Amino acid sequence: MTADQLLTYISWAIFIAIFLAVLVQAIRRPIRAHIDIALLFGAPALIIALVTATQIGWLAPGGLVVYLLSSAILAMPYLLVRLIDDITVISLNLRRGIEFLLIIAIGSIWVFPLERPAWVNTLLLLYVLGVLIYVVIASVRATIRARGVTRRRLAAMSLGSLFLMINIGAGSLGGAFPAQLAIWRGVAEVLGLAAGASYLIGFAPPRWLRRAWQEPELRAFLSRAATLPQLPTTAAIIQALQQGAASSVGISQARIGLWNESTQMLVFDQADRPFNMNTDDDMPAARAFRLQQAIFSPDTRYSSTIYEVSSQARVASAVLAAPITAGARRLGVLVAYAPRAPIFADDDLALIQLLADQAAVILESRALIDTAARMHAREEAARLKEDFLSAAAHDLKTPLTTLIARAQLMERRAHRDPDAPADQVSIRMLVTEAQRLKRLILDLLDATRVEQGQLVGPREEVDLVAIAQEICVRLATPRHPCTIDGDKTVVGYYDQQRIAQLLDNLVENAIKYSPDGGPIHVSVRCEASVVHLSVTDHGIGILAADIPRLFTRFHRGANVDDRRFPGMGLGLFICKGIVEQHGGQISLQSEPGQGSTFYVRLPYMPSEVATYAA
Ligand code: ADP
Repeated sequence: MTADQLLTYISWAIFIAIFLAVLVQAIRRPIRAHIDIALLFGAPALIIALVTATQIGWLAPGGLVVYLLSSAILAMPYLLVRLIDDITVISLNLRRGIEFLLIIAIGSIWVFPLERPAWVNTLLLLYVLGVLIYVVIASVRATIRARGVTRRRLAAMSLGSLFLMINIGAGSLGGAFPAQLAIWRGVAEVLGLAAGASYLIGFAPPRWLRRAWQEPELRAFLSRAATLPQLPTTAAIIQALQQGAASSVGISQARIGLWNESTQMLVFDQADRPFNMNTDDDMPAARAFRLQQAIFSPDTRYSSTIYEVSSQARVASAVLAAPITAGARRLGVLVAYAPRAPIFADDDLALIQLLADQAAVILESRALIDTAARMHAREEAARLKEDFLSAAAHDLKTPLTTLIARAQLMERRAHRDPDAPADQVSIRMLVTEAQRLKRLILDLLDATRVEQGQLVGPREEVDLVAIAQEICVRLATPRHPCTIDGDKTVVGYYDQQRIAQLLDNLVENAIKYSPDGGPIHVSVRCEASVVHLSVTDHGIGILAADIPRLFTRFHRGANVDDRRFPGMGLGLFICKGIVEQHGGQISLQSEPGQGSTFYVRLPYMPSEVATYAA
């Protein structure tokens, strides 16, 4: 036996083995893609069978054998087109065109028996090479578009078609140069073998190869998985899971449906258009959820609404679905779909189930994080309530104690000496403390109104400059002279009482936190539809670390102590509420030891209409 013959026998054996394997697969699961693969490998198997039968004398050479051999060779490019159509989508007209050419080509063999004119042979070669070139181009294009495993499979198929094309080209060159016939035959043999191996890898890759191909994407997905529960929203997690699952399986999209306990539906949230799926439905996703098992459905019946969101999905024919379940808790379902069945294999089910299990872990961790955050928020609210009560109790206690002590003293005196003249000093003190008490209580009430967004009431036409002037005059002391500048008048629609309260608070603070005295400066200006108010002092200032929290309730600067500067830390919180509920902003600048300026920006509201429009 020559080396050439040995090579031939080996490649025959390989082709026959592949054919038997794909035949068994097609018989076990007779879907179109499997049948097409079996047909494709059936052609070389037929050729090998015919040649062998002729060689051992079972069949007489010539006649029918030649017809059958030629037909099998001519059918191969067409069978490849069918397979390409199984994986990507080929236009129907093109397929019909190629089928038409095939019929003509096979017909020509029967019309021109053994001695064919050269031009017929040339046309036949052109048909074969033309279709093969198309197959190569279509599969290379599909390869470029695809990802993951699919990409690698398509690349193998493209390579197979390329080898086949060169093989046929080399075969015809052999005919043109009979002197080197043996060399050309050897080349053709090797190329044929390479084409067969590439097709096998592309169309029916062994399981270990699929796994190896899936690994990089799967690894990338699993390494990202740990960070997914930290994403800001569940929707973002779902999105990341869908993308990760799609690239691990090698398809363009995967979907996750979440189980909604109250509606008893699976909800697929896509492009702001939630799709609710009944679990009694016959779709693979519903069945996988109902039966709690992964399902592979190489069927075109299921290209329904849920898959129709992406244009590619409209032709979804193969669906893989796996339940997402954590322990006894059914969380949802993961669905992967491909436009063509052979992109998936039965063993992809295991992969999709693995991804669904991973999704369950991630969603569960997310739920735990949410629960922890809710508990934390509840604890924080409880803590705030306690803070509020203790601050309120503490601040109410001091004036109340003074009030009661003074009142008891007056009571004892009156008891001892009923005719004594009224104690004017004590009465003034009673009134002052009672007013302080009332102010504290009002602040507490206002603070709750801030939360409810109900601080600002009906608005009326007021002159902000006049309000500022009145406050400046009323609160100024000899050690704290108050000056005002800016516009002469700024008349607009505001809640007069609240604006007065705002300026009152700011000027009172300016005085309170300037224990060594110093001028207070107020400014009111209107510029480009914005009213700018500011209050400046030269007091103790505010530490930079306190500034971010200064407008939150109960926050007091680290440089103030309760004895020297009594207060509850609610004033600025209320000021912020007043400003924001007027549609404005409040900010400040301060230099510790130098003084502070509080800035307020309010929208200018020259008419009542503008007030309500705002
Ligand atoms: P209170 O004055 O009752 O503490 P506020 O909410 O009005 O409450 O002020 C919160 C804190 O902001 C004060 O405790 C003080 O530390 C700081 N602060 C406010 N205004 C001034 C100011 N003009 N100068 C210095 N610190 C100020």
